[in-house]
Amino acid sequence: MVDRTWVEELVTQFPTLFGENPDIWCGEGWKDIVTDLCGSLVEVSPNLQITQIKEKFGALRVYVGVCDVSTYNKAQSLINEAETKSVHICGRCGKIGSRYGRLKTKCRECIEGGW
Ligand SMILES: [Zn+2]
Repeated sequence: MVDRTWVEELVTQFPTLFGENPDIWCGEGWKDIVTDLCGSLVEVSPNLQITQIKEKFGALRVYVGVCDVSTYNKAQSLINEAETKSVHICGRCGKIGSRYGRLKTKCRECIEGGW
């Protein structure tokens, strides 16, 4: 069961970034990375929207809606930075982790705990 509380807080904090039904599926361990990214993205353009946030092959993936090229390029470089950070952070708890198998990034404790 994924705890969705932090997602609701995120959407409340950045109302312009997300539409009616935000498609956000990543673990709370990446909360800080995602929150920092959202803070930077709202500064890029007030019209920018995030269409999806998810975890793919153990890395964060963030997709933005249609926007002009310069906005897109700025957003994409911030997103790349966040994605690079995410592969070293446990998606469940936020501790230092590494790629576990092909699908998840986890820390040692979460691996041993069977998460
Ligand atoms: Zn962990």
